[in-house]
Amino acid sequence: MKKTFPIMAMALVILMLFSSFAFASSRLETIKARGKLIAGVKDAVVPFGYVDAKTNQLVGFDVDICRYIAKRLGVKLELKPVTSATRIPMLTQGSVDLVAATMTHKFSRDDVIDFSITYFMDGQKILVKKGSGIKSVADLAGKKVGTAKGSTSEKNIKKAQPKCIVLSFEGYPQAFLALRQGKVAAVTTDSTILLGLKNSAPNPDDYEIVGDYISAEPYGIGLPENDSDFRDFVNRCLADMWNSGEYKKIYNKWFGPQTKFHLPLTWKMEIWPY
Ligand code: GLU
Repeated sequence: MKKTFPIMAMALVILMLFSSFAFASSRLETIKARGKLIAGVKDAVVPFGYVDAKTNQLVGFDVDICRYIAKRLGVKLELKPVTSATRIPMLTQGSVDLVAATMTHKFSRDDVIDFSITYFMDGQKILVKKGSGIKSVADLAGKKVGTAKGSTSEKNIKKAQPKCIVLSFEGYPQAFLALRQGKVAAVTTDSTILLGLKNSAPNPDDYEIVGDYISAEPYGIGLPENDSDFRDFVNRCLADMWNSGEYKKIYNKWFGPQTKFHLPLTWKMEIWPY
């Protein structure tokens, strides 16, 4: 008994050292050791994250942002589809390293995960059938509005028009289908997602995006809680991307005047001096 006590005490100290090391180590080391960044992206949100019909590959603006980060880490990229409702749980459970999925950073989402600096800027609007007579959220009183479960859009529209009936779908394509079938009078979410729905439809001119912005939706990359090394790295990637012109190249590929989803770049990334 007397002899085993110091051995057990030493084992306990070693165990504590190891566990504190594990606690202090960053996700960065895990990613490098496995040689792969696992990123959560949307798979049905044109042009942020969706399956290209010709190549069957996941592509989009958010996918390219992840590709850049993986390249900077010198690792491969694995993409995992997330929805508005699953993206935060998937991050907290550790099944993805980060989430680039049209996600607005908000203080109320910041309790369980962390966010990068803003890497995309949008705001919420409504999409309706042309000739519906709906010109703004004021006209949605008593009407059904479709959006996605787990989105800020759900909450914002309830606040902007308490008299509308909000139907939350799994994703935006399902909400848009409901609009096409006349089951809802409008779809509401960030304007670029609405533009993606409208301009990917076989008959884009049958729909219009109307009214003023009802919210500001700055997108941040979702990151594991309390991992400042990883967060610093991702923020540095975004800043370098902006400063080198790479951001603009990717932005123009998806939202430039040559695309179907033109959105002029009217904001600047928050860049710290080097
Ligand atoms: N940006 C909003 C959000 O983070 C709406 C888009 C989405 O559902 O991803 O909730």
